Amino acid sequence: MPGTYKDEGIVLKTIKLGEADRIVTLFTRDHGKVRAVAKGVRKTKSRFGARLEPFTRTGLIVYRGRSLDTITSADILTSFHAVRDDYNRLTAAAAVSEMVDKITPERERARSTYALMLAGLQALADGKGATVVPAFAVKLLSLSGYHPQLELCAGCEAAARLGGFSAELGGAVCDDCWREERGAMRIEPDRIALLGRLLSSDFGCEADPRATLEVTQALKFYAEYHLERPLRSFGLLPVA
Ligand SMILES: [Zn+2]
Repeated sequence: MPGTYKDEGIVLKTIKLGEADRIVTLFTRDHGKVRAVAKGVRKTKSRFGARLEPFTRTGLIVYRGRSLDTITSADILTSFHAVRDDYNRLTAAAAVSEMVDKITPERERARSTYALMLAGLQALADGKGATVVPAFAVKLLSLSGYHPQLELCAGCEAAARLGGFSAELGGAVCDDCWREERGAMRIEPDRIALLGRLLSSDFGCEADPRATLEVTQALKFYAEYHLERPLRSFGLLPVA
């Protein structure tokens, strides 16, 4: 139904359209993921200015068109400039955005995911470090129907030593299941414990850089398997 709606949203990405416009992918609080045209946004005197930069939280008025929506007004609510001004935070925010973009369907309200993304960006802006991305990833997967099993073996339910991680079986696996399951990766039991900690605690968890890197890779592998698409921005994350 054509008409105008008000909402707030976080800019996930933008792509050029024609000479002066952009298509902006927004993750909105009430309408879920939305793609909308920002007309004239690439002109120097654009009324949008920096309001539609990636990771910005904006208040929006959007005209709902037949195919694409059009942004008629945008106001900065939170700029998250501290995220854009630092390379490590920027690449982390890109990983967070790409995951949300690839995991959320269009036009489906997902308030908990929206709240999680805001908390994740705030944690990055506050300099909470390298565990923010894996903590965000494991929480998002859990919230989106891909909860990884981390306490018992996802293959045989044994409470044995968990030394593997299987995307196909849905979480940590014991040494026996790891040996049988070709697609499973090897991972130390303390890494599995770290995944559990990242899932259950607030952002800003302290962890060894090597362990953080390994759990981030494990989550990338797990997410890519379930989403059936690559998470390219994870390749830009610092390698500890
Ligand atoms: Zn097992």
